[in-house]
Amino acid sequence: MNYGYVRVSTREQNEDRQVVALVDADVDKSNIFIDKESGKDFERKNYKRMLKKLRKGDCIVVKSLDRFGRNYKEVQSEWQKITKRGIDIRILDMPILDTTNHKDLIGTLISDIVLQLLAYVAQTERENIKQRQTEGIAIAKAKGVQFGRKQMFDYINYTDVFEKLHRHEITSTQAMTQIGCCEGTFYKLLKKYRTANNITHTKLDKQAYYAECKKRKYIERKESHCCVYCGEKLQENNKYVQCDSCREKAAKYRKAKIFKKFKTKGDTI
Ligand SMILES: [Zn+2]
Repeated sequence: MNYGYVRVSTREQNEDRQVVALVDADVDKSNIFIDKESGKDFERKNYKRMLKKLRKGDCIVVKSLDRFGRNYKEVQSEWQKITKRGIDIRILDMPILDTTNHKDLIGTLISDIVLQLLAYVAQTERENIKQRQTEGIAIAKAKGVQFGRKQMFDYINYTDVFEKLHRHEITSTQAMTQIGCCEGTFYKLLKKYRTANNITHTKLDKQAYYAECKKRKYIERKESHCCVYCGEKLQENNKYVQCDSCREKAAKYRKAKIFKKFKTKGDTI
């Protein structure tokens, strides 16, 4: 039984040409499996379905080798796996790759050599391209061409801001506005700054920081003669650090807390 395999990458949508070629090569239309996936490996849904259906003596017909797979190293091992099961493969565009023609050891040898050669050529071609690219990039860089997305923000330009932030002189929101970036960028820069300067920011640091902030706020308000809770200006005759209403609230809160404590203990007041 002949089975046809067709692969189109999702970009070039049209599989008709391959299907027509397979039908011409004596493949029943119902036995054609079509994948719309990349050929970088053999993790393809319909390809795997076809493999399950194949029995000894069957033949896979493919229009061209790159439809079968693009990675020649993998093509080679896949080819060996299939032929070992007693299944033939025909590549229509490359009559030398046709295991139905040469059923003997020489046939196996020929397809093996051809595939190895193709893998070798593809590999050297890739290396050449890479080489040319690196050379090209080096030349362009020497000419002063910039590559990649332009970096808008670099933490090095803002080390003074981050230093201030770490001395708790400014808050992170203030630092953000000083740099003029969004929150995501700010934290990315901060992370870079910390890793570059070996600064680890633990939870304990944060707690100490908040305590420090609270303390500083308290002192600031006390010195400027404001209520340490709400920040309202205190009256001249007020000898406390809170305004009257805040003090009342605090007293109430304390009472409620004590009441709750007794209540949970089961005592009655
Ligand atoms: Zn107050």
